[in-house]
Amino acid sequence: MIKAVRGTRDLLPPETTLWNFVESAVRDVFRAYNFQEIRTPIFESTELFARGVGEETDIVAKEMYTWEDRGGTLSNKFGEFLDWAEKNRGSTGPINTPKIVDEYFTAEGWKGQSLTLRPEATAGIVRAYIEHKLGDRGLNKLYCIGPMFRRERPQKGRYRQFYQIDAEIIGPPSAGSESPARDAEVLEMLATLLDRLGISGWNLELNSVGCPKDRAAFNEALRKALDPVRDKMCVDCQRRAVTNPLRVFDCKVPEDQPIIDKLPRISQFLDEGCRKHFEAVQEILTKVGVRFSLNDRLVRGLDYYTRTAFEFTHGALGAQNAILGGGRYDGLSEALGGPAAPGIGFAIGEDRLVMSLQESTSAEGVVKKPDVYVAPLGAGMDGEAARLARELRRHDLVVDLGDENFRLKKSFEAATRAGTKYILIVGENEVKADAFALKNLATGEQVSVPRAELPRRIQE
Ligand code: AMP
Repeated sequence: MIKAVRGTRDLLPPETTLWNFVESAVRDVFRAYNFQEIRTPIFESTELFARGVGEETDIVAKEMYTWEDRGGTLSNKFGEFLDWAEKNRGSTGPINTPKIVDEYFTAEGWKGQSLTLRPEATAGIVRAYIEHKLGDRGLNKLYCIGPMFRRERPQKGRYRQFYQIDAEIIGPPSAGSESPARDAEVLEMLATLLDRLGISGWNLELNSVGCPKDRAAFNEALRKALDPVRDKMCVDCQRRAVTNPLRVFDCKVPEDQPIIDKLPRISQFLDEGCRKHFEAVQEILTKVGVRFSLNDRLVRGLDYYTRTAFEFTHGALGAQNAILGGGRYDGLSEALGGPAAPGIGFAIGEDRLVMSLQESTSAEGVVKKPDVYVAPLGAGMDGEAARLARELRRHDLVVDLGDENFRLKKSFEAATRAGTKYILIVGENEVKADAFALKNLATGEQVSVPRAELPRRIQE
């Protein structure tokens, strides 16, 4: 038997109903904040993530699905070469070999390209922002929903293909993209969304990771503090201590935690501008009544974050307790070769959001059961039943449709399994009378209802 690949899974009904429920609430809430959808490709050039997310992050260093892609370009180039050779057959001129090699065999297309399944959405969205000059439109409020891929060790709440709901506010500084009001707006929107979904017991953890200037001083202090202790740490931290000390805070190894707890914190290194920005974010959140706690260990696993960084956690999730995370990335666009485009965004782990939702809501509770099961009875009745079902569906009723080859008992069983309230019998006598036997499966009550009255009777 061929099974789904490790770390991937099928989302089956009725659970998919919860996913749809989440996504439609997300679209409604985001709409109220004037966000619009963007859909970017699922794979991008590897360089985008290396430059955007950071070479030293776990995501780029260990978790990406990357491959060398040649696609059609190899044969295209070879085809072009053959065309050229054909055209020049018998030519007596000198053959410029280096030029041919350069043109047909070492050109970009021929060399192939390193591609990667997207491990996160922000880098792709910022790439699209730059490519399509979205900054010309002023402030962009964008969201996207889709699968991400990371080669992590699978466990409950951690998959190799997982889904994120991602939103970004990005634009030129002149459009106010740097303002702490945008950070607070994004955080307030998230609180509204979680409340709307009925997810209670979330905790917003907030930090400021400063700007590159603060970061340089902080990294220096970290390096110094790590120097005497790094030998006692895990191999990853030993490497991080040298290459990118900030990433030590991503470490999950229990033995390293007492050491990490004693390290300097970014909060001590924030410059005046970053401190003021962070205070303003907190002030607005307090004003709008969004509760939060400060956590100056929170640095998030991606290099591009500046200033505000945050996570929403939920008790019911166990070890993988972060439902969502995000932050500001004021230098990302420039790091990717674009214009200055400060931004703030987040990614909700949809798998985990659905898991927390399952605490309070069962998929069965959200699923809309069919209103009626239309049961054709006897040869030639499939067409009549289909016609009736079509009429009823036009009245927004959810209709399940049977098969004329089913005996009545089998139709009742199918209707019961589908969980419908009514079964509607379509037999020859009913069609002649243009009135149909409608039976309430819960009470057993059966009445004959004229065709025109059926939608109203079923809706009751
Ligand atoms: P990140 O992009 O790492 O900031 O992650 C944002 C959110 O995505 C996390 O808070 C998780 O809810 C979710 N997430 C990240 N990695 C995984 C994974 N491997 N499986 C399921 N959810 C994930």
